[in-house]
Amino acid sequence: MNVNDVRVRFAPSPTGSLHVGSARTALYNFLYARHCGGMMVLRIEDTDLKRSTSEHDASIISDLAWLGLRADEGPDVGGDHGPYRQSERAHLYEEAVQKLLAEGWAYPCFCPQERLDERKEQQLARGEMPKYDRTCLSLTPAEVEARLAAGEQAAIRFRVPDGEVTFEDLIHGPITFSSDVIGDFIIKRTDGGYSYNFAVVVDDAGMGITHVIRGEDHVTNTARQLMLFEALGRPAPRYGHHSLILAPDGSKLSKRHGATSIGDFKALGYLPAAMVNYLALLSWHPADEREKFSLDELIDEFDLSRVSKSPAIFDVHKLSWLNGLYIRELASADLYELIAPYLQQAGIELDPARREVVSEAVQANLVVLGDAPRYVSVFVEEVDPTACPCVESLRAPATGVVFEIAREVFADMPGEYLSSGEAKELLHRVVDAAKEQGVKGKAVYHPLRVALSGREEGPELFYLVGGLGKSTILARLEAASAFAAGRE
Ligand code: GLU
Repeated sequence: MNVNDVRVRFAPSPTGSLHVGSARTALYNFLYARHCGGMMVLRIEDTDLKRSTSEHDASIISDLAWLGLRADEGPDVGGDHGPYRQSERAHLYEEAVQKLLAEGWAYPCFCPQERLDERKEQQLARGEMPKYDRTCLSLTPAEVEARLAAGEQAAIRFRVPDGEVTFEDLIHGPITFSSDVIGDFIIKRTDGGYSYNFAVVVDDAGMGITHVIRGEDHVTNTARQLMLFEALGRPAPRYGHHSLILAPDGSKLSKRHGATSIGDFKALGYLPAAMVNYLALLSWHPADEREKFSLDELIDEFDLSRVSKSPAIFDVHKLSWLNGLYIRELASADLYELIAPYLQQAGIELDPARREVVSEAVQANLVVLGDAPRYVSVFVEEVDPTACPCVESLRAPATGVVFEIAREVFADMPGEYLSSGEAKELLHRVVDAAKEQGVKGKAVYHPLRVALSGREEGPELFYLVGGLGKSTILARLEAASAFAAGRE
C-alpha cells in the first residue's frame, strides 16, 4: 500500500463533550494521516440513541475545529464514503447482517434476557468464563421460521469461528486471542439496533479505513472485529492501541481531577496550540529533547513507533507551562482579542488606545487567558496610594524631588495612553533628571510605583506609565507629593 492511501478515522460517540483522551486519539489519527499524506474521516457513532445528543455532536465537531484537527471527510464536510453518522447507516448494517445470515456466519437467537442472565450466573458459579451456550445455533430453519411467524423476537448472533485471532498491533506488537474466550456475540439486538462491534466493522470496511488508532480499552473489541472482517470477506485495517490517560494518582482521569474536556480547558483560557502540543507529548516521544512543537512540526515528526505503551499521566502543570510559552509568543493585539472575553466577564472594558500596552504588560504573567482580569486590575482599579499599606515609602527621603520631576515630565504626555516604547522614553527622562539631582535606582522606581499603583509589586513601571492614563497618573502623583510633603 502506498502511504498516501492511508485512511484513518476518528469515531467519537456524541454522549458527552470531547474528553482530552478522545482529543488525543483524534490528534494521533490526524498526525498519522497528515504525516503519510493520507486522509482522516470523522464518523459520529451515535447508535446509542438514548445518550447521544445533537448538542454533543456539534460541540465535538467545533472542539476539533478549535484544535485545528479538521477531518477530510465527515458529517460537516461530506465526502464519498458517507453518510458519516451511524444513525444514518442502518441500511448498510442490515445488508451485512443478511449476508452473514445467508452465509451461515450468523443466526437468530430467541433466548430471553432472564435465561441468558441465569446461565451466566451458573457459568460464573462453576468458575467458567461466561459465554453464550449456543442454544439457538441448533434451531432448524423451519423452527426459526415458525418462531418468527409466531411473533417471537430474535437477536442476531455472530457465530465465532474456532481458533485464534492474532494481529500485529502498531504500538504493542503481536497480540493473540483465543476464540475460546469469546462467545457468539450479538450483532443485531432484538430492538433492531446494531451492536458497536458490528457497526464499526461495516463502517471501517465501507469507508476504506486502513489504520485504526484508538485507546487500549478497545483491544478486546479488535479480536471480535477482525473475525467480522474475515466473515464479511473484507480486508481488515491495521490497529494501533495507545495507552489511556491517567490522573497523577494513577486513577482514571475524571472530573474530580479538574478540567477534563476540551471545552473546560478552552474556557479556562488554554490555547489550542498548547493543548495540541501537550496532548501529542502524552504518549509520543520525539527523537530529541524538544518539548515545544507546532502542529506542522508534529505532522513532520509524528511516528507510531515512538508512541509509548505505558499509561500517560496527565500533568496539568506541564500543560500550563506550555500554555504560558504560547501566550508569550502572541502579538499584543492578538492577545488582547483573546483576553477580552475574560475582561468583559470581570466587568473590565479597556479604552482601545491602551489595549495593546496593557496586554503587553500582563503577557508575561499569564499562565491561562483566564488569569487576565487579575493582572489587568492594577490598570483599572481605583487606588488611593496614600491609603495603601506601603504608604510610608512615599515619605522616604528624596521622594518629593522624584514626584516633582515626574509630574513635570508626565504633564508632557502626548496622549492619555502611551505605547510601551513611548512610556519607556518618558520614564528615562524622569530617571535622567532625578540622577542629575543625585537620586537614582530604587529611590526613583519604588516611590513612583507606589505612587502610581498603590502597590509595591506589579508590571514594569513603564507599562504603568503607558497604560494607567495621563489624568490618573497626574492625580496620583499629586496626592503622593502632597502626602510626601506632609500636606495631605
Ligand atoms: N465510538 C467509540 C468510542 O467513542 C470508538 C470506537 C473505535 O474507535 O473503534 O469509544
